[in-house]
Amino acid sequence: MFDIAVIGAGPAGFSAAIQARKREKTVLVIGEAGGWLSRAHSIQNYPGFIDISGAELLAKMREQAEAMGAETRPGVVHQILPFGDHFALSLGGDFIEAAKVILCTGAKQPRLLPGESEFLGRGVSYCGTCDGMLYRGKKVAVIAQGPEAVSEANFLSGLCSEVHWFGAPQEGVDPRIVLHGEKPEAILGGMKANALQADGQPFAVDGIFIFREAMALSALLPGIETDGTFIRVDRGMRTTVPGVFAAGDCTGQPLQVSKAVGEGCVAAMSAVAEL
Ligand SMILES: Cc1cc2nc3c(=O)[nH]c(=O)nc-3n(C[C@H](O)[C@H](O)[C@H](O)COP(=O)(O)OP(=O)(O)OC[C@H]3O[C@@H](n4cnc5c(N)ncnc54)[C@H](O)[C@@H]3O)c2cc1C
Repeated sequence: MFDIAVIGAGPAGFSAAIQARKREKTVLVIGEAGGWLSRAHSIQNYPGFIDISGAELLAKMREQAEAMGAETRPGVVHQILPFGDHFALSLGGDFIEAAKVILCTGAKQPRLLPGESEFLGRGVSYCGTCDGMLYRGKKVAVIAQGPEAVSEANFLSGLCSEVHWFGAPQEGVDPRIVLHGEKPEAILGGMKANALQADGQPFAVDGIFIFREAMALSALLPGIETDGTFIRVDRGMRTTVPGVFAAGDCTGQPLQVSKAVGEGCVAAMSAVAEL
């Protein structure tokens, strides 16, 4: 059980982790390396660095957080489940427990496919290692848009009779997986999902696995209030869900590193005060 789980390994997440460690709280930062900042060639408006690449700045932030004792884990958190006085976070096939959660998930919100929310848990899944056994010997489609797609699809190829990959080809995909160029448009079904519509045509399957680099907030933490696509927070970076805080681009404009770092600091101090 961690004192604080931080979701998102960007500037807001590492800033929150550094502040939490400074106050001797146990903290886990979950997220893939990379993210928005690593795409910036040159940052010239972050104090302390006249000109630094986004990748280098992010690497320094990670190094500082880890040196201070923050734990880090790659992966995408699929769901946050409130359990009275703490939370369980689903990450791959694992559950991670934490007393407080800080969302530092960035501004990029995935657009859900029509039918996706409706059939979630009824033929649609975000986790191959968790739900793959339900599709043993069956035909499944994988919508591959995130870093986990290759390992998760390969895991499914050892269980399912057929795995069909919809997404840009990636290195390391098991040769048993059938690659498709058609663009997924919707999930179709009755009592449960039974087809993926791609390029206007229904493709019959028993299940559909979706792997993205981020989760829609409505799936990650149902009931959290937003202003448009941004998470609603107060001055202490508290969301409308008690025990859950948010910082950085996910709370709104301006989408800037210094704002993300500042909010990460405030969120961590608010979380620590409630522990
Ligand atoms: C090309 C470019 C140039 C830029 N130039 C500048 C600049 O010069 N100056 C400046 O101040 N800002 C600049 N920015 C903006 C800056 O990068 C962002 O404001 C900053 O990265 C926001 O930090 P963050 O931690 O809030 O989010 P991000 O850096 O977006 O990090 C969020 C991370 O959370 C991950 N995540 C999301 N959901 C989940 C989940 N469910 N589980 C696990 N992980 C999850 C995401 O994949 C992402 O890696 C630039 C951005 C780009 C793309």
